[in-house]
Amino acid sequence: MKFERYGVGLVKGLLVTFKHLFRHPITTQYPEQRLVPSRRTRGNELVWNNVKCVVCTTCAKTCPQGAINMETEVDPANPGKRIITRFEVDTGYCISCGLCVESCLYNALHMGYAYERAQYRRQDLIQSNDGLLASETRKASAFMHTDMEKDFPEQTLLIDRNKKKAVIKPSGDANIEPAAAPPPESTPAAPAS
Ligand code: SF4
Ligand code: SF4
Repeated sequence: MKFERYGVGLVKGLLVTFKHLFRHPITTQYPEQRLVPSRRTRGNELVWNNVKCVVCTTCAKTCPQGAINMETEVDPANPGKRIITRFEVDTGYCISCGLCVESCLYNALHMGYAYERAQYRRQDLIQSNDGLLASETRKASAFMHTDMEKDFPEQTLLIDRNKKKAVIKPSGDANIEPAAAPPPESTPAAPAS
């Protein structure tokens, strides 16, 4: 049987606590501060390009949740072509799996970059037609479209791997600046991918 002096375990525990005092804080004060998400994030909404869309309905057939509802009709000006009369996505059912985006062969569908799309009313989660188009506040992410990655800032959580620290502005913009290398014990573990 092994005996230890009374209080040794307590001191060891306090030393661990003491070491953490010298780590730079990695907690952000959300919502006053916001981290920059991954460039390939699958946000809370879909962004649709109605110019590229050929109304094949593949995305609606692919969705495992049945969250996409499309209504089409024959184009009166061109009977050999179909036009879309309603393109509706119920983001309340959407699980952000991205399968619809992967299945679109015409690059007409993107996952959104935004992650704060909570609503008070269930019906406000349904987006349709013009409400699915890209705008200043509805930006498409680079998920499945890696050529778009250059348009996005670096993800904040990856900065620690590069021995840099993130300067997070209350406005939500994150600037990145090189920082002095932290002491060995203060290097946080790399986030699980
Ligand atoms: S898969 Fe793409 S091209 Fe086909 S209907 Fe959906 S968005 Fe349009
Ligand atoms: S991301 Fe997945 S669940 Fe959401 S609309 Fe597309 S296929 Fe459906």
